[in-house]
Amino acid sequence: MRTSQLFFKTYHEYPSDAEVVSHKLLARAGFLQKTGAGIYSFTPLLWRTVKKIMRIICEEMDRAGAQEILLPILQPFELWQESGRLDTYLQANILFNLEDRKGAKLALGPTHEEVVTDLVRRSVSSYKDLPVILYQQQMKFRDEIRPRFGLMRGREFMMKDAYSFDVDQDGLDLSYEKMKAAYHAIFQRLGLRYVVVDADSGAIGGSGSQEFMVTADSGEDALMLCEAAGYGANVEKADSVIPAAPDGGAPRPMRKESTPDIKSVDQLCAFFSMPAAAMVKTVLYTAIHADHEQTVAVLMRGDRQINEVKLTNVLDCLAVRLADDVTVKKVTGAEVGFAGPVGLDAAVPVIADLSVKGMTNVLCGCNETDYHLLDVNIGRDCKEPTWADIRLAEVGDGCVLDPAQTLTMVRGIEVGHIFKLGTKYSKAMGLEFLGRDGKKHVAVMGCYGIGTTRIAAAAVEQNNDDDGIIWPWSIAPFHVAITVAGKKDEAAKAAAEALHDELEGLGWDVLLDDRDLGLGARLKDHELMGLPFRVLYGRGFAEGKVEVKCRRSGETAEVTPAELRDWIESRRS
Ligand code: ATP
Ligand code: MG
Repeated sequence: MRTSQLFFKTYHEYPSDAEVVSHKLLARAGFLQKTGAGIYSFTPLLWRTVKKIMRIICEEMDRAGAQEILLPILQPFELWQESGRLDTYLQANILFNLEDRKGAKLALGPTHEEVVTDLVRRSVSSYKDLPVILYQQQMKFRDEIRPRFGLMRGREFMMKDAYSFDVDQDGLDLSYEKMKAAYHAIFQRLGLRYVVVDADSGAIGGSGSQEFMVTADSGEDALMLCEAAGYGANVEKADSVIPAAPDGGAPRPMRKESTPDIKSVDQLCAFFSMPAAAMVKTVLYTAIHADHEQTVAVLMRGDRQINEVKLTNVLDCLAVRLADDVTVKKVTGAEVGFAGPVGLDAAVPVIADLSVKGMTNVLCGCNETDYHLLDVNIGRDCKEPTWADIRLAEVGDGCVLDPAQTLTMVRGIEVGHIFKLGTKYSKAMGLEFLGRDGKKHVAVMGCYGIGTTRIAAAAVEQNNDDDGIIWPWSIAPFHVAITVAGKKDEAAKAAAEALHDELEGLGWDVLLDDRDLGLGARLKDHELMGLPFRVLYGRGFAEGKVEVKCRRSGETAEVTPAELRDWIESRRS
């Protein structure tokens, strides 16, 4: 390809709405244009990269025995009603929905569990038809609350989604492992540094779920890791081991203390000369359900934080938010800062973290302004709460696999998510088959997503410098740029043409930069665009040499065209 024929343009400025480096660089280097909020047009440069990512994904999916299909983007509402997900998606406002000329409601597919389950239930009737794994790669549509970071969180984005159908849980476990192995192969071929972590699988969560995360400081997800013990989990899901609370001793009678204006845990620690770990804080939340909201009280050890994702799962609701001041005052009868489990409105469910279980003689709020209770014994002085793990794991906590090791945190970009769905969709939508035993069974499903276009952004987040993008070889739009220093050097131009053809013959993608533009500007563009190597026909051409430069290391060398291939092959990554 010659630049004179390539539809592209690089820019001097970053777009004003670009917050992260991948968005800035992809826009400046001319890979994408914003068409609307969270909606992008891909130029030939980006489409080349995305197609390479797609191809790697397809090859590894095929190798793992999955079969490629293509499902419709337009999805009838009826399917979403059948699965029971319509309300949740409408409530969250994530679904793009429209009406056809007859008034029938349709959604633009945000994901395809419903459509694929419908497809499979029509063609599977016997255990002999299973297992099967189907996948597709196409645009998904989600009306994200905050579309941002360019390709990272778009409202229209490319996803590879795969779905497995098995006769039983053992079959699902096998399909899941196959997909997991394929994911490892994919991310290794993509040349990205990544980790696999345990993921939250929601209230209706099936039996397991893991995320593939590209590590990058700009990542939206916090990951808790213990390399020594091999533990990794999204902070939404992470467990940890914490030091025991101080021994409270044998239960004593509860007593009330005046604590004027003393509200926060820190203030209480100072006031009572007591460690936070000896206290139990009470936080009121509003649990949001599809059709109603409910106030709940959450008890947590004073020195620990509440994990709202775990809480949402325990409450089996759509989301939680901190109760507002009006609600707090109404439920406790006190100012904010004095809530406690004793004497709380009986209609308010109380959820307590497991870290509180077994604590004696704790300090709590009193539901009375300017008072706290000492020597509270939960279960004796107030009703027995619902016990659950709702604690946030923190850096420095012990690892659950080896408590002698501590957890660290890194940030990651979710590029893949594999998920044991179980029978949620097959049951709701009647995906049944006749088993070996002659009886009817429901298929056991898994789903496996990859953010194809997000990968392009994640690759740039992880591979860039002050001069621009540094594409891994496997997904670079072009592998090598060739250009001639002297605009009138016809011999060098002919040699460059010949080299272009020769390298393309190796299966490499080569960009011959024949623009009538200063050499400096041309070379800067190659760096900005992130092409892994560039070859310059300069002064050395008289001695039969070209200058080659590796984008990643910055290493340069004068080599003969015959030496070029080896030089590049031994350095490409
Ligand atoms: P997130 O937590 O980032 O919102 P998700 O858990 O909703 O993602 P999935 O439904 O698991 O996403 O989708 C599969 C994959 O699609 C994700 O792992 C991610 O890589 C990608 N993805 C999800 N939402 C977007 C988006 N708005 N823009 C680009 N890629 C996305
Ligand atoms: Mg996900």
